[in-house]
Amino acid sequence: MSRFWSPLVHQLTPYVPGEQPRTPGLIKLNTNELPYGPSPRALKAMRDAADDTLRLYPDPVSLSLRTALGKRVGLPADHVFVGNGSDEVLAHAFQAFFAHKAPLLFADVTYSFYKVYCELYRLPYQTVALDETMQVQIEDYNQPCSGVVLANPNAPTGIALGLDKIRQLLEMHQDRVVLVDEAYVDFGAESAASLVKEYANLLVVQTFSKSRALAGIRVGFAFASPELIEGLTRVKDSFNSYPLDRIAQAGAQAAAEDEAWFCEHVEKVKASRERLSAGLAALGFSILPSQANFVYIHHVDRSAARIASDLREHAVIVRHLKGERTADWLRVTIGTDQQCDVLLSVLRDILLRND
Ligand code: PMP
Repeated sequence: MSRFWSPLVHQLTPYVPGEQPRTPGLIKLNTNELPYGPSPRALKAMRDAADDTLRLYPDPVSLSLRTALGKRVGLPADHVFVGNGSDEVLAHAFQAFFAHKAPLLFADVTYSFYKVYCELYRLPYQTVALDETMQVQIEDYNQPCSGVVLANPNAPTGIALGLDKIRQLLEMHQDRVVLVDEAYVDFGAESAASLVKEYANLLVVQTFSKSRALAGIRVGFAFASPELIEGLTRVKDSFNSYPLDRIAQAGAQAAAEDEAWFCEHVEKVKASRERLSAGLAALGFSILPSQANFVYIHHVDRSAARIASDLREHAVIVRHLKGERTADWLRVTIGTDQQCDVLLSVLRDILLRND
């Protein structure tokens, strides 16, 4: 608390990011990064970009990167927006599209930043409960609103909806923006990018932080109708006209163009997810059906908080989110097979211990 803070700052409950530990040697399965380094082509492009031209401002509209991103999904650059991580793209979208009297709708268990942005920008919101199997029920979103935000696959559950359900939502709220947050889409779900030409109210947000192993350079992007892209650009240019530096633009573009690296690593994660899920099931965990690079797990005999702290003692960190519906669950990022084997063996020891 401070006398210098405005009343709004006093009221804020900021997002608590997952720990980025300083201790070396930990098995880090807590923030859904890829356990592999990024594409060598991306690394080279970033090294090459670190030259005398860094004295110049970067391209404020990241045209070359937007063109490359659009090309992958058959959209021209005027249908593509980029920002400093998808968190920033989301922040701009919340300001650009959801400041109406009616509440913004999102699930009661989803990415917790949505609520933070609503508080920061003073946007009314209404959470919609997941059903008892932790699934989104689209029919429950049929109510007056300023728009809908849907993480697909959802986080932290990992459960994905099919495009038929996304269509249903888009038809239901034709005069409102439906934001589909696809941070984890590449690990097995279907992207709504293919619907962008059909629905002017659709905003699809993705990131380089997960499937491209580039969380460290903070690049997120969106696909939408030019009308929505222009709205986002107006907000961006009122906030920071150069959100992506030269190195990030070069690295992200090379990563977007390295299809072979991308496919190989996504497949690796999917295979490790199946392998880890089988190992966890054998230890008595329930596992939600995940299409993401993490699994959401629960054990009947042992509290999630206890498992998380015991794992930590063995140098393995996973994510335990507090909250009524999440307190019994742990979110575990898919690591390398070797890391997953260590996790399973530590879990086996922990569960055998009865003290
Ligand atoms: N959306 C979801 C659902 C996420 O889990 C995350 C990562 N925490 C983000 C968006 C933001 O990712 P980034 O800002 O790294 O692109």
